[in-house]
Amino acid sequence: MTDDDQELGITESKSHDTGEWYAEVVQKAGLANYGPEGMSGFIVTRPRGYALWEAVQNALDAKFKETGVQNAYFPMFIPESYLEREKDVVEGFDPEVAWVTHGGHEELEERLAVRPTSESIIAPYIARWVRSHRDLPLRVNQWCSVVRWEATETKPFFRTKEFLWQEGHTAHETDEEALEETMLRLDQYESVYEDVLAIPVLRGQKPPHDKFPGAKTTTTVEALMPDGKSVQGATSHHLGQSFAEAFDITFSDVDETERTAHTTSWGISWRCLGALIMTHSDEQGLVLPPTVAPEQVVVVPIWQADTKEDVLEYAEGVAEDLEEAGIRVELDDRDEHNPGFKFNEHELHGVPLRIEIGPNEVEDGELTLVHRPDGESDVVDRADASGTVRSHLDEIYAKLYAAAEENLDGEIREADDRAEILGTLGRHGGYVETPWCGEEACETEIKEQIAAEIVMVPFEEDDDLLGEDHEETCGVCGDPAERTAYFAKSY
Ligand code: AMP
Repeated sequence: MTDDDQELGITESKSHDTGEWYAEVVQKAGLANYGPEGMSGFIVTRPRGYALWEAVQNALDAKFKETGVQNAYFPMFIPESYLEREKDVVEGFDPEVAWVTHGGHEELEERLAVRPTSESIIAPYIARWVRSHRDLPLRVNQWCSVVRWEATETKPFFRTKEFLWQEGHTAHETDEEALEETMLRLDQYESVYEDVLAIPVLRGQKPPHDKFPGAKTTTTVEALMPDGKSVQGATSHHLGQSFAEAFDITFSDVDETERTAHTTSWGISWRCLGALIMTHSDEQGLVLPPTVAPEQVVVVPIWQADTKEDVLEYAEGVAEDLEEAGIRVELDDRDEHNPGFKFNEHELHGVPLRIEIGPNEVEDGELTLVHRPDGESDVVDRADASGTVRSHLDEIYAKLYAAAEENLDGEIREADDRAEILGTLGRHGGYVETPWCGEEACETEIKEQIAAEIVMVPFEEDDDLLGEDHEETCGVCGDPAERTAYFAKSY
């Protein structure tokens, strides 16, 4: 389909062609357009899409600030010599970096990288700001966009060449503190997924061969999409001392001894919006949890010429009450569209709750509430409209979360040998949990046959597959298993 497709409703089915269906929802619900010709992989985020990002931003920004983080802003360009100071970063990002070589007509003396991530320009400044142990811990975050010239297929929000994100960067006195910080940020990402986006996630580590360049450990939250593919939802990296050493982040400790700091970095991008849209939406269009919906409630008055005045007055009163109670509400009193058209449009846009008000509701002092996710309707008393609406919004959130949780719970399967791993991934998708020796070669073997990879290794305390004696053997090669691996196809 093209970007200019003006047909109103969604025409592709979610289960038949998830990719096409997703592209339709993103565009027809007014979230984003594709970028200009010649710029594949870029998107234009429209106000309805940006509002979703703002909801995530507000929730996370508050959490960060409550836990000692301050926002700052660094240049979008990084001198090549800075990037080169941490060798893993150069190697890791090299194929994806966009370079600036000219300023106007002048060729630059040194190429500038458009930031693919900012460790290499933030670390040298942290090094300047940190003198003594009293300056630690130091925590800065920036909300910005980064550019990665992705070679794999792009998809609005999930994988774009320029994407919005936040990147947090911290420095600490000890390794334990850095690890604690890494886990705190992972907890905050988990909470945004579970408490704001209504998506349950799995938490764990990336396998060592898939760590962030230069990191000691990369932790991740993974979300399962309805088509059985996993999404890396956000990552929090324990960087150890590699960046601190490369950029001289040192401090004098209580005994005046010069020591090297331990650093972390962590980021979530607008990929979480892709996960949000993909998880909850349906054949009618976008479905949003009330937590992020730009309009939580739409009031649709239904009138004939002789009832218009009464119905409108009643509907306005209800909308005012809700607004006063802090509920995001829209009164759709447009004359030029009939109620059926309005219902469809608000369904397409994902408004979580519709309130229908016709002459019957006015006469009986009632409201008809309709839930977007499943069409369930309920006739309720007009009195205490805001309290009732709030509890219905909570119910809608709970329904969305429960459906996503049911999907996840049913899609984690154990497998003990190669044939079972391949067979299960091929038949069902989802996650396949298997004991793993820790070697990348075993992942490669599966990847070559079925394009699935190890998306996550559970933390030891969450690992219910490996017994205390660790006697299991790797599901792929049969050598002694070190950890449990979760294989999945991924976005
Ligand atoms: P990283 O710095 O590579 O750990 O990336 C941080 C987070 O950004 C990842 O967990 C992804 O969710 C997200 N991300 C990475 N690449 C892209 C991309 N091309 N488009 C959108 N989000 C991305």
